[in-house]
Amino acid sequence: QPLKLFGTPEQKKKYLTRCAAGAISAFALTEPHVGSDPASLSTTAEREGDYYVLNGEKLWCTGGTIAELLVVMARNPKTKKISAFVVETSWPGVKVEYRCRFMGLKALANGVISFKDVRVPKENLIGQEGSGLKVALITLNTGRLTLPAICSGIAKHCLEVCRGWTGSRIQWGVPLWKHEAISHRLADMAATTFAMDSVSRLASQMADRGGYDIRLEAAAAKEWNTVRAWEMIDQTLQIRGGRGYETELSLQGRGETPIAVERIMRDCRINLIFEGSSEVMHLFMAREAVDKHLQVAGAMIDANNGFKEKAAALPKILSFYAKWYPPLWLRGLRTPFAYRDFGPLARHLRFVERSARKLARESFHGMAVYQAKMERKQGFLFRTVDIVMELFAMTAVISRARHMTDGRAPDAGSAVELANLFCQSSRRRVIRLFRDLWSNDDASKNAAAANVIAGRHAWLEEGRLNLGLTPESFQTKFLTQVRATEAAREPKVASAKP
Ligand SMILES: Cc1cc2nc3c(=O)[nH]c(=O)nc-3n(C[C@H](O)[C@H](O)[C@H](O)COP(=O)(O)OP(=O)(O)OC[C@H]3O[C@@H](n4cnc5c(N)ncnc54)[C@H](O)[C@@H]3O)c2cc1C
Repeated sequence: QPLKLFGTPEQKKKYLTRCAAGAISAFALTEPHVGSDPASLSTTAEREGDYYVLNGEKLWCTGGTIAELLVVMARNPKTKKISAFVVETSWPGVKVEYRCRFMGLKALANGVISFKDVRVPKENLIGQEGSGLKVALITLNTGRLTLPAICSGIAKHCLEVCRGWTGSRIQWGVPLWKHEAISHRLADMAATTFAMDSVSRLASQMADRGGYDIRLEAAAAKEWNTVRAWEMIDQTLQIRGGRGYETELSLQGRGETPIAVERIMRDCRINLIFEGSSEVMHLFMAREAVDKHLQVAGAMIDANNGFKEKAAALPKILSFYAKWYPPLWLRGLRTPFAYRDFGPLARHLRFVERSARKLARESFHGMAVYQAKMERKQGFLFRTVDIVMELFAMTAVISRARHMTDGRAPDAGSAVELANLFCQSSRRRVIRLFRDLWSNDDASKNAAAANVIAGRHAWLEEGRLNLGLTPESFQTKFLTQVRATEAAREPKVASAKP
């Protein structure tokens, strides 16, 4: 993907043909000290004539233990700029140090890769020198779309398992689905599966069609679908009861069908962490949302600016908001009967429209209240992002149901029913999130968290099994350094001989 997007014709010819012929490639960004914040990575790429010399260590490189080709992000120690390089694993100095093992994804060929004086021809620089993070982040945009699709598949599997199981398992004289607590979950699962599928299709079709900046849609689809998939598998495990917790092999061993639930739960948990963790996805979307305000009113909220600078910025700010703000209230007057051609779903679309304008106003109010501190107000920002994602999901289900209706699809009636149920539930979540923007426990939680870190509540940990954890236990480490230290400590057997 990085080469497809940023490679030269020569690079594409040389390497994409190898990928097409089956060469496995891997993406090496993460390091022991650097995960969500790759800007501070430490692998170095020093220019020496026609080569860059790479030194460092990468962690959790998926496919890395079997890859022929790597895309490696490294920093020029002089300019501090980060660049991306194509590195062949057969080159001297590239070494797979360790194969990592995880809670799920047992077949993942993932490892620690070290680079010791690896000479990379200058032709293997991807894009411009210094554009490494851009290459990494833009690559992840489209790469992220695979996860919503996988999650949609997980949801479909969960629905199938729960439909089959709750329809046939009799407890207290009736099938499970007849107990209201279970039937409500089944209904939510069906509506959510339709929404996940619609979100994934919408974002992917936008990417395929091209011409859109799909950064936000890809992030929303990744974040919304991965969290929903995790909730779905949790519900499925609960509904399957003990059989949900039992492994496939064990089920099979005692004569029952080996239906995978616990394995899928283990496999899908990582989706909330890699390709941009849930928190990072929220931050990414929140930054985009407030970006325009920062551009326009940045001078006003900048704590470093004095009265003079702020006063100078005021006319521009006022003229922008005089045009931007009132329509966010007034435009609603024009649309009480809009979208009538969407039939029973029109009212939901009107809600989406109203809420989008309300969200713009609330974000502006947040900026006005918190000013420069807004960046740190993750409670506020993350709720606005949760609202955005709900509105996006509602839009996706409504447009899909409409598309199916227009195309006279045989399941159009079912789609409208599910879209309606999904939107009803989603609207409740949006209303709650709007309320929580200004009525919440954020300040109390900030204080309590600081107290936890300061040790005020450490007495609560008394009585647990003491594993002897110390601050040192939480240090992240480079494997190559750990091994070097261990080797230095080992007695030199050969030299000890007489
Ligand atoms: C199975 C697996 C496969 C992987 N494959 C690859 C790969 O192929 N290539 C590659 O380069 N990397 C890969 N990774 C690394 C993965 O991308 C990182 O795990 C991920 O970026 C998170 O980094 P971290 O684990 O260091 O967590 P940290 O960055 O230490 O974060 C810990 C927690 O804090 C949260 N957090 C961090 N910053 C903030 C913030 N500003 N605000 C709020 N919360 C925050 C995070 O969301 C997370 O919940 C893989 C990891 C795993 C486990």
